Formats: sequence, C-alpha cells, structure tokens
Amino acid sequence: MMLSDIPSGKQCVIVRVNGHGSFRHRIMEMGFVRGVSVFVIKNAPMNDPVEYKIMGNHVSLRRSEAMKIEVVDVSDFQYDDEVFHGTIDDITHDELHTKLQTINVALVGNPNCGKTSFFNYATGMREKVGNYSGVTVAAKVGVFKRRGYTVNMVDLPGTYSITEYSPEELYVRHHLVEDSPDIVLNVIDSSNLERNLFLTTQLIDMNFAIVGALNMYDELEKAGDKLDYKYLGLMLGIPFVPTTAYKGIGIDDVIDTIIDVYEGKKELTKHIHINYGNTIENAINKIKVELNVNKALTDKYASRYLSIKLLEHEKTTSEIVKNDTQNFDAIENIVERQRQIITAEYHEDAETVITDAKYGFIRGALKETYTTKKTDVTDKATKIDNLLTNKWLGFPILILFLWIMFQSTFTLGAYPQQWIENGVDILGRWVAATIPSGIVNDFIVNGVIAGVGGVIVFLPNILILFFFISFMEDTGYMARATFILDKMMHKIGLHGRSFIPLLTGFGCSVPAIMATRTLENKKDRILTMLIIPFMSCSAKLPVYILLVSAFFTKNQGLILLLIYVFGIIVGILVALIMKNTIFRKESEQFVMELPPYRKATLRNLSIHIWNKSAEYLKKMGTVILLASTIIWALSYFPRNDNQSATVQNDGSYIAQLGRFIEPVMRPLGFDWKMSVCVLTGFAAKETIVSSMGILYNDDVSTASTEAVVVDDTTANDDDNSKLITALRAERYSSGKRSGQKVFTPVTATSFLIFVLLYCPCVATVIACRKESSRKWSWFMVLYTTAIAWLLSFCFYTVFA
Ligand code: GDP
Ligand code: MG
Repeated sequence: MMLSDIPSGKQCVIVRVNGHGSFRHRIMEMGFVRGVSVFVIKNAPMNDPVEYKIMGNHVSLRRSEAMKIEVVDVSDFQYDDEVFHGTIDDITHDELHTKLQTINVALVGNPNCGKTSFFNYATGMREKVGNYSGVTVAAKVGVFKRRGYTVNMVDLPGTYSITEYSPEELYVRHHLVEDSPDIVLNVIDSSNLERNLFLTTQLIDMNFAIVGALNMYDELEKAGDKLDYKYLGLMLGIPFVPTTAYKGIGIDDVIDTIIDVYEGKKELTKHIHINYGNTIENAINKIKVELNVNKALTDKYASRYLSIKLLEHEKTTSEIVKNDTQNFDAIENIVERQRQIITAEYHEDAETVITDAKYGFIRGALKETYTTKKTDVTDKATKIDNLLTNKWLGFPILILFLWIMFQSTFTLGAYPQQWIENGVDILGRWVAATIPSGIVNDFIVNGVIAGVGGVIVFLPNILILFFFISFMEDTGYMARATFILDKMMHKIGLHGRSFIPLLTGFGCSVPAIMATRTLENKKDRILTMLIIPFMSCSAKLPVYILLVSAFFTKNQGLILLLIYVFGIIVGILVALIMKNTIFRKESEQFVMELPPYRKATLRNLSIHIWNKSAEYLKKMGTVILLASTIIWALSYFPRNDNQSATVQNDGSYIAQLGRFIEPVMRPLGFDWKMSVCVLTGFAAKETIVSSMGILYNDDVSTASTEAVVVDDTTANDDDNSKLITALRAERYSSGKRSGQKVFTPVTATSFLIFVLLYCPCVATVIACRKESSRKWSWFMVLYTTAIAWLLSFCFYTVFA
C-alpha cells in the first residue's frame, strides 16, 4: 500500500521509500524514513497536495511523491502516540513486521564471475552453475533469513555493462530501475578487476546502495597479487568483502554487510561521483538543469545518470525522457550541442569519451590499491604509465619535463619577443617624432607605450607556457603528474583532488579558485583556495622574465623553475600548518583518475593558445591600459610650468606615495619605485612590469652614469633592453644606501620572492569572496602579504 492510498484520519508506518537522487534525499530529510509513523491529516481523492503529520510536524507532499512511499496501515492498532517510538521488534502487526524486515537484494555482475555460486550458497538453492556465459537466462529468486531479516535475493543474468545492447542488459536494467532493490550486490571477479569494475562504475552512476563481493579471491591470492580492498572501498564508497563463492567462503560476511548497509550504518557507503573531466562535466550540468524541471522524472531517476545516458545517445533513456517531459526538444537540442562540443574536443563520440573516463577512474583507483605480479604487460599504455608514475623515475621525469618547459619559455620566447620589442620601439619613436611634444606626446610615449608595450612583449613567453600546459593536459600527462604529486601529498596529509585547482593556478588563479568547487568538503575547499596564490600564475611571468634576464646571466630557465618550485614549497608548508591548526579534520579518500593517453592535436592546441592570446590582449586593452594611464598621470602631475618633459618628476604624486610607503618596504631592499610597482600589481600582476616601464624608463634620458643615451644611432636598442639597462643603472636617491645601486641579484631575488608570494590581484580576491566569504578573502590578502614580506625580509637580511 502506498501513502497516497491512506485516507484522512488514519495512521500508517513507512516501510520503504522508493525513487532516487534528490527526491529521496529531500523526503528522507523531512523525516519520511523506514519505521516512522505518519498521521494522515487531509487526503481527499484527486486532491493535491496531501497533508500529513510526521514526527509532530505538519508537512504537505505532492500526490506523486506520496505514491512513492510504501506504508502499512496501522490504524486498527491504536498507537497512542502520533509518533511511533518503539523499535521494530515491538511491532506486533504481522504485515508491518514482515515488510520492515525484508531486504531486497539484486545480484549483478559479469557473466561467469560466480553470481549463481554465491546465490546457491546464500539461499541454499541448487541453481545450475556453469563455466560458460548465458547459463542464467532469467532471474531466479531465493529467500533466506538472517539476523531477523528476510532477504529476497534475485540472481540476475550476467552482463558486462548496463546499457541496451543485449536482452540480458535490458533485463538487468529494467529490474534495477523498476523494482529498485534496496541493495545491489555487485559480484566481482577479482582475477579480472579492471573489466569487472566497469560495471561497478555504471552502478555508481545509477546511485544505488552497493555492496561489493570480491569473488574468486582465491585466484587473486594464488596469483600472488595484492589488493587493498578496504582503501578501494573507502575511495569508491562501496564496502568490499572478499569471497570464494564456490567454497562458500565469505558469504556470511557479505550478508552481514548487506544488513549493516540496510540499517544505515553511515560510514559504510558514500555516494560518489565519477569525475568525467571538465568538458563532460559541463555537458552533464547543462543537461541536468533542463531535466530538473521535470519532477516526476527526476523523482524516479537520478538526473546525473539520465544526463550521462543521454550524452551516450542511449535510445532507451531517450524514450523514457521523451515520455515524461514537456521540454524534450530543448533537452535534445542541448544534448546534441554538447555531443558536438565533446567530439570537437576529443575527436571521438561522447560514448567513447565517457567509457574512456570510466576506465581512467578504474585505473586510478587500482593504481593506488592493487599490485599484480602479472609479467605479461604488453599493453603499451600500461608500460608508459608504469614508467611515468614509477616510484623512483616518475618525479625526476616530471622535473625534467618542467625544466624543458621553462627553458623553452625563455629561449624560444626570446626571438618573437625581440620582434615585438622592435615593433613597439619603432612605434614609440614614430609617435615621439610625429606628435608635438607636450602632455599628449608624453602620455602616449611614457604612459601607453611604455606601460602596455612593456608587457605585451611577453605574450610569446606566456603562449609557450600555455602550449606546454595544454600539451600536458591533452595528452593525459597532466593526470599522471597529478598522480605522482598526489601520492606525495597524501603523505603530508593534503588532499589529492586539490591538485586540479592548484595546477590550474599556474595559468590563472581565478578559474583555479572556481575549480575548487569539485572538492566536496568545505574545509578542503577553503584551504585549497588559500594556497592557490602561491602557484605562480602566468601574469607573474613577465616580472620573472624581466628581472631574471636583467640580473641573472646563466641558467635562466632553471632559476625560473626554482621560483615556481619555491612557490609550491611555501604553499605546501602553509597547507601543512593550516591543516594542523585551523583546518583540523580527517582526510577523505578519492580516486585520482588516470585518463587514456591521447594524441595532442594541433587543432586543440591552437584553439587553447588562440583563446589565451585573445584573453591576454583583452587584458592589455583594459586593465593594463587603465592602470598604465593612472600610473602615468600620477607620475606626471603635479607639474610646474617650466619643467621639461623628460625630467623625472620627483615631486609627482606617485613619488610622494612611494616615499610614504617606502619605509615599510626598505627592509626588503626596495626603493620607492619598487614599492609603488608592487602596489600597482594589485590591479593585475603584469602591471608591475608596466609600472616599471613608466617609472624607470625615463631615467635613461636623465643620464645616470651608466645610462645609454637613446638616439637614432642605437637602432637595435628597444623598449625592454632599455628598461633592463635602466634597472641595472638605478641608484638609491636617499637613505643610508644613497648612491648605491638599487638592483643587485640579491635585491632582485628579494623582489621576486615578494612578487611570487604577496597578495593576489583584485580579480582573484573577488573570486575568493564569491566562493567562500568576505572574511576569507580578507584573510587571503593579509596572510599572503605577511608571508611575502617576512620571507623577502629574511632573504634580504641574510644575503645583503
Ligand atoms: P555466474 O555466471 O556469475 O552465475 O557464475 P557461476 O556461479 O556459474 O560460476 C562460474 C564458474 O566459476 C563456475 O565454474 C564456478 O565453479 C566458478 N567459481 C565460482 N566462484 C568461484 C570462486 O570463488 N573461485 C573460483 N576459483 N572459482 C569460482
Ligand atoms: Mg549464473
């Protein structure tokens, strides 16, 4: 009997809640759980909604919702209480008693994994067991008792997958969806884990309460393989029990586990999502939004599952969705669009990409838990994997790769950089000569060209960096790198999944902070957000390149790598400290997916690089241009009339501001100009370089001792080498170091450390505020700056 059938004034007890996903969750949260008594206040036939009293509260449900709650009418028993407080054993009502104590279990597994052997042992029945597929044609039902429960066990046909390609698959699928068993017992052939776990990933998508029987465990042990099944279970959210079904070993443990899960021992199961990668996850989310308006449908099926199946172009699912929705056309449009996006990105249909991602998930899970003695590894991908994630070689290979990346950023970048520099320089001269001298001339030459031009020359370097990052992502190496680092991070108590956002942080902190959403736990999320600024973003690259090329002549690529590594180390240390102080908590286990290797196509790489260039140029035209204008204006005004345009304006607003903050920065070896530059970096980190361009460049013409006089004879001289010359020549104009050179390798390093670590740009702070809270965004600003100051200070004090 269903709750919707009980008339007003009667009382009933819930024995089962059908349905899936968010519906089930919501209903259970309202108190509609097994064994609870419900008092029907108002239920007129055909009336919606229906009103109930449950646990002392009045709630109303839609009729369609009440139709999913199975109950037993207990009105004749006249419970005094509206709320039934007794335990199940106190119930004398026969029907209720049986209903509450019945567990429906479905046996699901590949052909020949030992389902029928398990079934026979558990139920004491004598079904035919055979060492060939197709023995079980239809479902067999067996019943047995344990711990006061009646267990209904259904032995389903063996399948490799739950789709729609064979009658067996359709049969299993129909049974699982229509009869929704309380527990799905997934029987797994332990001697063939990878293939068997594929079915498990589909069950996970379908959002069942799963117990895993690792059958044929005798064969796994005989082969000398090792499996940390407890850890595997923690990662997958499924309790696993090893069994040897044909000898009856482990059967009782499995049944006990089933009952434990049924009784709701929380720590045993957890609903996880398999991460299908950004493109697919985006597609799933878009489809979900459209599906979610159809409550009747999503009450029955998990919308994530439906979305995945629609993306896979499954006819059966399409039919179901079509029958139960009003907006099917809109849904189908989105699905088609997303399938196109996926195919464009991967050059494969969505089915294949999703299957690959599932195997990537399985590979990642087994990599951490399973060691096999099988020596006949002929699979090329496995061989490559074994090398790249090797305990000893993996890390050096990663470092080598990164070194190549940074070295190329420098050396390959130098050529196009030179061309752009020349272009900017020619433009500068042309403007200087064409526009009559005065404020306009000064603004364009010393403001726009020195500011924006100074930064734009680094475009090639940034593109090369992005080329490597995209290459690593597209080929699947990034996931392996993440894997190696993840293992290390586990050792020091940090979270594996944090690594995706952290790696994104090397590109830009804003999407990195948004990527923390994939972390389920709030503390993990905030902790990850807080250390993202230490992952050097690409906007800081111009500063590094400028200073490294000015003050270090050898090993420039290595120094660049060291800067990045230093950021990572500080991030790790900060994480460790916070983890043991403000973010104390138990760590959770996650699978790190190992997606298949793919050829990086030129097309994808060029799309990424093109997007990046467009983004960079846009930034130049907006934030950097605006900041340059402001800095120029502050350095140009106030003016007295007889001041010549080329003379450094020592009374300018910016000089006053710089002198004001200089005392704070002096201990780090910074003069007022450096202090101002650091300040302007809050707008965007590239601004540090444009500020330097504006503040230092015109020094050249005021001829300090080593300055190069720029005229037409030095045709090769250009904007940035001009800036480098200016930086090298800069001297303190006041204080106890007055007259000494400002920039030495030591001050340059101190400056680099500060730029690497201090307060992130305003866009990042805003993103942090959106994803967490105002409090945490302020904390981010303050603590990063404090750390930056402290470490620069230590460095400068020791080495200066
Ligand atoms: P089903 O197709 O999943 O129902 O699998 P069956 O129960 O018919 O078993 C297939 C074959 O595997 C039979 O020959 C069983 O004797 C054998 N088998 C079942 N369980 C085990 C086990 O735990 N270890 C080993 N070595 N063989 C098993
Ligand atoms: Mg069978």
